[in-house]
Amino acid sequence: MLLVENVTKRYGRTLANDGVCMSVASGELAVLIGPNGAGKSTIIKSICGLLRFDGRITVGGFDNRTPDAKRILGYVPEFPSLYPMLTVDEHMEFIARAYRLGEGWRGRAEDMLARFELSDKRTKLGKELSKGMQQKVSVCCALLPEPKAVILDEPLVGLDPRGIRELKNALAELKAAGAALLVSTHMLESVEENWDLTYIMVGGRISRTFRRSELQAGESLEAAYFAATEGAGTSSEGGAAAPADSGMQNGAAASADGGIQNDMQNDAQGGGRS
Ligand code: ADP
Repeated sequence: MLLVENVTKRYGRTLANDGVCMSVASGELAVLIGPNGAGKSTIIKSICGLLRFDGRITVGGFDNRTPDAKRILGYVPEFPSLYPMLTVDEHMEFIARAYRLGEGWRGRAEDMLARFELSDKRTKLGKELSKGMQQKVSVCCALLPEPKAVILDEPLVGLDPRGIRELKNALAELKAAGAALLVSTHMLESVEENWDLTYIMVGGRISRTFRRSELQAGESLEAAYFAATEGAGTSSEGGAAAPADSGMQNGAAASADGGIQNDMQNDAQGGGRS
C-alpha cells in the first residue's frame, strides 16, 4: 500500500534521507524509530507530499503527489496545525467537503469526537484548544475520510491517558480493517502490542528492518532498537550548514483534492486564516 523507493532528500549540504526504501502492506503497522535527527520526519513529510525529493513514493499504486494518493492517505503531523478561526465542527465539515465524503461522515465525526472527549468542544475555535485537544482534532481530521494508509508522526505526544488509550485502540481497529499504518515514535511501549514491522533509521538511512517474528524470543522492540543504534551516528552532515531549504510545496497540495492535511499545515505555517 505504501512504497518508498530509493528516496534521497538534501537540505543544502545535509543529507537528511539517503536512498531510503520502505514498504507497508495493507493491514500492517510499521514503526519508524531512530535517534533525533535521523531523518524520520523528513521521510514522513516526503511521503505526505510536503517535500520535494529524489526517488519514488507510491500510495496504493498512485504517485504520492497525485490526488488519488492524497485521497487515501491520512497524516497526523508531529505538531497539530489547526485553522485558528474554525471551530472543531467546522474542521470536520471542511474535511468532509474537501474529500467529498458522503453524508455518513456526520455520524462518524460525532462518534470520533465523543471517543476523544471532544463532544463538548465542538463549538470551540482551533486557537482556543489546548495542545492535546488540537492533537485529538488532528487525529479526527486524518481519520474522518477513512484512509487506506495513515502516517502518524509522534501521535501520542501531548495526549492524556484516555486519549492515548483511544488512539491505540483506533490504530488497532484501522489495522484490523486493512489500513496500512506507519507510526514514527520514541514511545516504543505504545506500539509494542500492535507492530508488525520495524524500520530503524540512523543517519538518514534505514539501518535495520525486522518483522516481529524475526525478534529473538523474549526480545523487546526497545532491546532491538538499542542493539541496532548503539554507537551509531545520527547525522549525515556534508559540510558547513547551508541555508535551510524546507522544499515546501506551498499551495501545490492545497490545489489537489484530499490534500487538506498538507494544506492545513502549510496554512498554519503561513500564519493561518482569520
Ligand atoms: P528526525 O525526525 O529523525 O529527528 P529530521 O528528519 O527532522 O530528523 O532531520 C534530519 C536531518 O535534516 C537533521 O540533520 C536536521 O537538522 C536536518 N533538517 C531537517 N529539516 C531541515 C530544514 N528544514 N532545513 C535544514 N535542515 C533540516
